[in-house]
Amino acid sequence: MRVIAGIDLGGTAVNYTIVDFDGRFLIEDLCEHPARSVEGPDVCLQQIDDGLAIAAARGGVELADIAVVGLDTPGPASATGVLSKKGSTNFVHPAWAGFDLPAGLSRKLGRPVTYLNDGNAGALWGHASIFGTGSGKTSISAIVGTGLGGGVIVNGHVVKGRDGFGGELGHVLIPYQDLPGLEGATPACNCGRIGDLESVCSLTAIRNLLLPHFLLRHPGHELGSLPVADAAKKVRGRAERGDVMCREIFRVQAHALGRFFDQMVNVFDPDALIVGGGVIEASAEFRDWFVSEIRAGMPTQRAEQADIPIHLMPNGDTAGARGAALDALRFAHAATFAN
Ligand SMILES: [Zn+2]
Repeated sequence: MRVIAGIDLGGTAVNYTIVDFDGRFLIEDLCEHPARSVEGPDVCLQQIDDGLAIAAARGGVELADIAVVGLDTPGPASATGVLSKKGSTNFVHPAWAGFDLPAGLSRKLGRPVTYLNDGNAGALWGHASIFGTGSGKTSISAIVGTGLGGGVIVNGHVVKGRDGFGGELGHVLIPYQDLPGLEGATPACNCGRIGDLESVCSLTAIRNLLLPHFLLRHPGHELGSLPVADAAKKVRGRAERGDVMCREIFRVQAHALGRFFDQMVNVFDPDALIVGGGVIEASAEFRDWFVSEIRAGMPTQRAEQADIPIHLMPNGDTAGARGAALDALRFAHAATFAN
């Protein structure tokens, strides 16, 4: 049996999945191996190789059955997976600068390797989970985690862009000035922009902006007594349990996402909007409320677009590996047709 492996390479862990040529995933849960990225490419590529054998066993296949490998990583990297010469937070060892990851991994594994950045891989999985592969539909995925990632799938194809920066949704500016609850705040992003989506809608935004801003209005709130980085991680759990201030923090984030999605609706007229990431790893009640607040944050849509579906991305922690695998599967099918 020939299969495809999906490899999601992060700073600390490699996450694997296996998919067969009919698109069936053979590993349901998280399958991780330590990445050791900080030790540089030689050590890390060996780690990926070692972990792949473990993943093959988990998927019930032979290592030799793996025909093609799909890889995804955090950026910044080129559209083909050459890491930035300026380095990146997940690949700090100097030997990573300008390293061609897919080419290096292909040499190491002796197989073709396809590449997507992690946001685009997650978006491809979200898209496929709703529409299947090869549907020709258009979707926008926003993945709310430490930062805000995601991607744009147009007519079934990932928009990578000229230099691999297509789908950098977190750095799209949104009209934040009149977001209810955010009055007087200046949302600054690590990228230098003021008022982009990530600066209002991410765990980083809770820590840097929303929690300090709302604590001023809620003196005596118990999260005010904790270091802000620790307190920020508790906001979602408190919001789920009904804490008024924490719900307000998530309402602002949902409304920011609504403003952003409204722009995407007008640019792409997509078939679906998809939300993933830590923000939806919560109870059904909280998820439903969050989606309803996203919709409440969108300006009035024209009648034809008012019913645009907002979906939640399933299997969030394996989304990158699954999307990378589906990208490689498409490559494998195309290569088969070419022969
Ligand atoms: Zn930004």
